[in-house]
Amino acid sequence: MTSDAHDFSQGAAFVEGRYVPAREARVSLLDWGFSRSDVTYDVVHVRHGGFFRLEDHLDRFERSLAGFRLAPPYSRAEIAAILDRCVALTGLRDAYVAMICTRGRPRVFGSRRPADCDNLFSAYAIPWIDVIPLDVQARGAHLHIASVTRIPAASIDPTMKNYHWGDLTRGLFEAHDAGADTAVLLDTDGFVTEGPGFNVFMVRGGEVLTPDRGALEGITRRSVLELCAMTGLPARIAPLRREDLMQADEMFCTTTAGGVMPISRVDGHIMSNDAPGPVSLRLKELYWQKHAEGWHRTEVNYAAAETVTVSPAA
Ligand code: PLP
Repeated sequence: MTSDAHDFSQGAAFVEGRYVPAREARVSLLDWGFSRSDVTYDVVHVRHGGFFRLEDHLDRFERSLAGFRLAPPYSRAEIAAILDRCVALTGLRDAYVAMICTRGRPRVFGSRRPADCDNLFSAYAIPWIDVIPLDVQARGAHLHIASVTRIPAASIDPTMKNYHWGDLTRGLFEAHDAGADTAVLLDTDGFVTEGPGFNVFMVRGGEVLTPDRGALEGITRRSVLELCAMTGLPARIAPLRREDLMQADEMFCTTTAGGVMPISRVDGHIMSNDAPGPVSLRLKELYWQKHAEGWHRTEVNYAAAETVTVSPAA
């Protein structure tokens, strides 16, 4: 399979078996991924020319696929090769790399049976994204505790990565209306869950805490918990309520698209003299230091970009 002779420098996508510049990538309006949010995905980042925790992202993608009963027509090895090639085509050393499987279109016109659909696998690599801009990270993000609650986990399992973002988007509007940078949502029982694209952490009395429910099991969250264990910093996954956040000494959020991002305000509560706290900064520094040391790194095979062959599985 060959790639089109295009400019991939601003992103490369793989759609319906072809590599195209990301801005030209299209999927059908009739794909249930679009009309029903019937889709799962995962995002891995490339830093300084290497994937970070690629196998963990592929593991999670496979779990999400199984949970949604989606089956892309490519093997795990082929998916890894497609991701690699997307990055290689761009030449980007720092990239946001997404893998997506939509339900696709029914083979039988008008069918309402999900099993009648041909699942579609797409992927893309685009320049690095920070979900919280760097200048906001530098002063510490201002977090709004949204009044809209997270979709119940019994309805949409948040550990299966999904695009059911109606609640998170409402939270973002609320946050911006309130003059905050972003939001965190509680569940219907009042427990802290997560925000639009990130997990949350708080630090209290030297202990690092992150919610035990209602959230994606973030790979960055796992990395932070591992870094805490490596450095002897007490850390715990625990039920957290609004009142806990109001007593936090520090807070930060974590995501593939940005890493460890400090928070300096949550609603009316100002932390660490209105600046990123020392534990948050230490973990952020460690996170990037470990990247530089090659922690969980898979080299991008830039040279082999044109030789990778990809074919649908039988
Ligand atoms: N929670 C949600 C809803 C997300 O969309 C994401 C990442 O996109 C995260 C948490 C963080 O997960 P990870 O650290 O694996 O990127």
